[in-house]
Amino acid sequence: MANTVLNQSPNAAINKNILARYLAIPQPEDKIQAMYVWIDGTGQYVRAKTRTLNFVPKTPKELPIWNYDGSSTGQSTGKNSDMYLYPVAIYRDPFRLGNNKLVLCDTYKYNLKPAETNNRHSCLKVMEAAADQHPWFGIEQEYTLLDMDYRPFGWPKGGFPGPQGPYYCGVGADKVYAREIEEAHYRACLYAGVTIAGTNAEVMPAQWEFQVGPCEGIDIGDQLWMARFLLHRVAEEFGIVVTLDPKPMTGDWNGAGAHCNFSTEAMRAENGILEIEKAIDKLSKQHIRHIAAYDPHEGKDNERRLTGKHETSSIHDFSAGVANRGSSIRIPRTVAEEKKGYLEDRRPASNCDPYKVAEAMVRTICLNE
Ligand code: ADP
Ligand code: MN
Ligand code: MN
Ligand code: MN
Ligand code: MN
Repeated sequence: MANTVLNQSPNAAINKNILARYLAIPQPEDKIQAMYVWIDGTGQYVRAKTRTLNFVPKTPKELPIWNYDGSSTGQSTGKNSDMYLYPVAIYRDPFRLGNNKLVLCDTYKYNLKPAETNNRHSCLKVMEAAADQHPWFGIEQEYTLLDMDYRPFGWPKGGFPGPQGPYYCGVGADKVYAREIEEAHYRACLYAGVTIAGTNAEVMPAQWEFQVGPCEGIDIGDQLWMARFLLHRVAEEFGIVVTLDPKPMTGDWNGAGAHCNFSTEAMRAENGILEIEKAIDKLSKQHIRHIAAYDPHEGKDNERRLTGKHETSSIHDFSAGVANRGSSIRIPRTVAEEKKGYLEDRRPASNCDPYKVAEAMVRTICLNE
């Protein structure tokens, strides 16, 4: 069969006003829609399916455990395909509104062991062990918008936009592309109950960022995954693809990261800078272990991004500095001035699993492993 590439997503051409008529049909009060969302076998993409409930759930515990066909998500064989979905967090549904819910789940195999891509399970144990230190996280999720030919959205076909410089936090038709997605996603996150901290246009055209946090403990992973789901779902309606690849374009174009800002209660207290310095010292001794946890392929993906150029440090070296965007760890200038606050680990790739990143940071910094 010919390997045809669609010029435009079929979704872009659908008249969405027709759907609005059906969404306006009154929904029976005792019937709500719960969309279960989970991480698939790639560890990078989400899947989702919906069921009707006859009550309005308030906590994940009230929700039924469900199952799915793991052989179709790269998580099991066809002969033993059923996998389990355990609800872990509930969000308001910004697409269906009303009492309808989005339900984040983690995944378990037939033998009730966590699935290979269920990194939440071990992260939660580590977060419980370090709960008394109140670890906070803020993740800066960078992402790139693509056309259906998998080239960055808005880039000239068969050519390139002008060199980087005017695009970061840019304003204007020749500076940024598809702000609509960033705007729609921001509101969807606020409505859903995701602690989104802000957004900005990035250095490469068609690249954007949103930040989630600060969130304490396991919440950072739950919220970032739900924010990713919302992003893919919003972009789907516009007929635009979102990639979290850490280096979508080779050459003189910035890659995409997921900087992880981190603090403990002691770092946030007076003279917490001393605790921050201690943490950096511990991180310096575990560079290789952290690189292995900071993308889904043990550092292979980040090799393309952490080159030492384009505001990154080399994947082979550990470094730290105040306001230095070419180091592994950056101490923000305001933190150095106030002598308390947080550190920024700039190494995680945009396609990292936040559960894995957060677990590695807490193991090294809080549990001295
Ligand atoms: P940058 O200057 O690196 O672009 P951003 O403003 O994009 O930084 O992101 C900073 C992130 O740090 C936000 O997600 C914010 O919620 C988070 N943050 C702020 N204070 C703390 C803290 N004390 N501990 C952990 N994260 C924090
Ligand atoms: Mn079926
Ligand atoms: Mn940022
Ligand atoms: Mn950024
Ligand atoms: Mn940053």
